[in-house]
Amino acid sequence: MKNIAVFGITGSIGISAVNVVRNHPDKFRIVLASAHSSADKLFHLAAEFSIPQIILTDKTKKDKISNIPPSTKLFWGEENFSELLQSSKCDLVLNAISGSAGLRISMETISHGIDLALANKESLVMAGHLITEKLRHSKSRLLPVDSEHSAIFQAIGSTPLSEVKTLWITASGGPFRKIPLSQFEDISIENALAHPNWKMGRKITIDSATMMNKALEVIEAHWLFQKDFSQIKAVIHPQSVVHSLVEFIDGSLLAQLGVPSMQLPILFALSYPHHLKSELVQTNVFELSELSFHKIEKNRYPLFFFACEVGKIGGLLPTIMNAANEAAIELFLTKKIDFTQINAIVQNVAEKAKNISYPDLETIIDTNREIWKKVITSYRNLI
Ligand code: NDP
Ligand code: MG
Repeated sequence: MKNIAVFGITGSIGISAVNVVRNHPDKFRIVLASAHSSADKLFHLAAEFSIPQIILTDKTKKDKISNIPPSTKLFWGEENFSELLQSSKCDLVLNAISGSAGLRISMETISHGIDLALANKESLVMAGHLITEKLRHSKSRLLPVDSEHSAIFQAIGSTPLSEVKTLWITASGGPFRKIPLSQFEDISIENALAHPNWKMGRKITIDSATMMNKALEVIEAHWLFQKDFSQIKAVIHPQSVVHSLVEFIDGSLLAQLGVPSMQLPILFALSYPHHLKSELVQTNVFELSELSFHKIEKNRYPLFFFACEVGKIGGLLPTIMNAANEAAIELFLTKKIDFTQINAIVQNVAEKAKNISYPDLETIIDTNREIWKKVITSYRNLI
């Protein structure tokens, strides 16, 4: 029995993880869980799984709480993370928090020597250098949950990284792969949230439409697999069946395939190094449609190319870009800017920013907050 903590349990990844646990009650027990403000959803899950300790990170909701399950203890805010990781005696943390808010728990988990199943790619985008360094002095294992990275992780297996030539990260291309470029300014929130293959949280769904998500994944792959950016390539694969490919130095390519479902990469991260017997996701090879691969168009996905360049530069710049992107998505989802202005804001903020090499955690967290605030309050000057 593995004791797991699920941070961001009420989100898309969190609920997929819950379903994995529901289907394998003899293998996994949830001993700690967090949500930001979805109190009722969190209490419901705490009651179903008898979760002893839960956290709500949005303290502004403190006065409006009722119906906490009797055998569950509720904590408020991020400042309890460290103590709760200790007292819960969890074997693994699944970080399924969305956006920059996920960074702190990634760092805490590694500090405690606990295995980290990482869905929150923003942790590596902002602080890949700190996480890599921390892992060197910790017994934590970093287990990718992002489907592309799980695929790469499985394809590499025990092969030395020096024998890996290129990582090919697949991308669906999102909902706007085919619409005329002239229509981009009229893209509505509903259109942008209608992903063709995956049902995900709102932030990552918009990131998939701009393909910022793929650039974040290129940066994530750089840190996870210690490969130079020149050895990481993204390719459009509209069917989302080949979750990624690894090209070895002898020219051989290995891929991992399956129908699009996050339950498999979550299950593999939770059960690593084993593949558990499971009926959760089944792929019928005869029903797979034709598999195709295309180059990424620069005019259609400018943010992808810009963000990959930012990743290469590194330092504090990826944090600045990520914060500007999060704020721009918030502005788009609240109808303050149009879809193409997400790109304009991100590029504008990142181009004007002053970079710092090897920023420490507090600098990263402070800069993230400052940039987010600046974009939200003065976005009109940035578009
Ligand atoms: P969701 O928006 O669906 O869920 C986010 C979770 O994080 C919720 O539990 C939410 O709580 C919590 N949360 C939100 N804001 C904060 C905050 N400020 N502090 C603490 N907790 C917070 O996101 P997803 O599940 O889609 O994505 C989670 C992560 O996984 C992201 O980093 C994403 O890039 C990555 N990922 C997601 C995939 C997917 O299929 N969804 C695929 C691959 C990676 P509440 O409900 O209370 O708001
Ligand atoms: Mg992904």
